[in-house]
Amino acid sequence: MVRLKEVIVEADYLVTCDPSNKVIKDAAIYVVNGIITALGTQKEIHKDYSTSKIIDGENKILMPGLVNTHSHSVQTLLRGKADDLALLDWLKEVILPGEANFTSHEIYVSSLLGFAEMIRTGTTTANDMLTTHDSEKGVEAAIESGVRTRIGKMLMDSNQGYPKSMIKNADEVMEEAIKHIDQYHRTENNRIQYSLNARFLLSCTPKLMKLIVETHNQHEDLMIHTHASESKAECKEVERIYKKSYIRALKDIGALGDETIIAHGIWLDNEEYEIIKQTNTRISHNPSSNSKLASGICDVKRYLEDGVIVGLATDGAPCNNNLDIFREMRLATYLQKIKHLDERILPAKQILRMATIEGANAINLGNNIGSIEVGKKADVIQVDLSDVNALPCYEPISHLVYSASGKDVSMTMIDGKIVFQNNVFTTINISKIKEEVAKYQKKWSD
Ligand SMILES: [Zn+2]
Repeated sequence: MVRLKEVIVEADYLVTCDPSNKVIKDAAIYVVNGIITALGTQKEIHKDYSTSKIIDGENKILMPGLVNTHSHSVQTLLRGKADDLALLDWLKEVILPGEANFTSHEIYVSSLLGFAEMIRTGTTTANDMLTTHDSEKGVEAAIESGVRTRIGKMLMDSNQGYPKSMIKNADEVMEEAIKHIDQYHRTENNRIQYSLNARFLLSCTPKLMKLIVETHNQHEDLMIHTHASESKAECKEVERIYKKSYIRALKDIGALGDETIIAHGIWLDNEEYEIIKQTNTRISHNPSSNSKLASGICDVKRYLEDGVIVGLATDGAPCNNNLDIFREMRLATYLQKIKHLDERILPAKQILRMATIEGANAINLGNNIGSIEVGKKADVIQVDLSDVNALPCYEPISHLVYSASGKDVSMTMIDGKIVFQNNVFTTINISKIKEEVAKYQKKWSD
């Protein structure tokens, strides 16, 4: 997979997600060395630029690649192994033992399968949590797949009945993370950024959290990514141990701010909402995961009214059970409409922004990706409009949110490189990965 020096990508509709939400008919973009250099109608672009490499756009929508603000690529091999369980049982009974038992090769295969699914369904950037051991293999999968990511090992040091092999003392945990920061942070043309992934307060002692905050403060553009206030039972446990509520505990540790993203954020009191707002902490909304684990419905409306930046996410395969952000867009708007009994909440235009530019802003990458604008990186996808579910198409944005699914994605370009086109992965040997997955499935089934 090489970056094309010059390419013109065409479309029936170009959905830019720029500040004015511009949509251009019969459009094209001109990409040079992975950077969007011009955009306009096909007529305009072909008049001003010429290249032999043209990606045809008949019956296609061209839009920014989707941003998944909270994923666990490494859990993909556990898809379908943990259905109909509540969060803490789901974690203790299946997910943590599953992660702990992965060989280093399984970590690679599981992560690569996850990234393949994301790329296939139009996600170009993932904010991803790996597991406690052999996380290098997960980063390797990210590098190979071509996905853009903030990624890192899972940080845990507190044993609340979790597999023993996952728990090391705080100093050892951070020593390895710091080594990884030196090795991976801002590599691959800045496509790979390291991330400090504190699993949650029930698996991280105050000492580890303090070290995470210190390490964060010593590095540029390094985010803290954690789960918080996901289920009522979890919040109760945190309150029992920390003697204060979840968000207050995170604030007192110094872990909140504009370089922190919290997955879920469902069970907050008024003062905690105010803390999120005041600290400019980012929220990752995971509607499918929250529904399947019966965790609750995140009050996205309230966050948005407070000016909090909210991105969308799938969470891991075993609590969803897919990694398709198109489905999250649809469910996110439906859940808010029901929660507030107001059909006007989160219209298609707004939810599409949440899956693109706002997701990019939530992980502080909005200056480079998340919209199709001159000067931004060419992380773009084409969505096919020729199948029966796409007909008729009066309004492309409505179509993307309410009718389309990730299976309609026909081309995924990341950093100016085509990683998926017409059902072919260019970076991943998908038949080899399928064979490996079949072997693992047999092992787990035996
Ligand atoms: Zn998660």
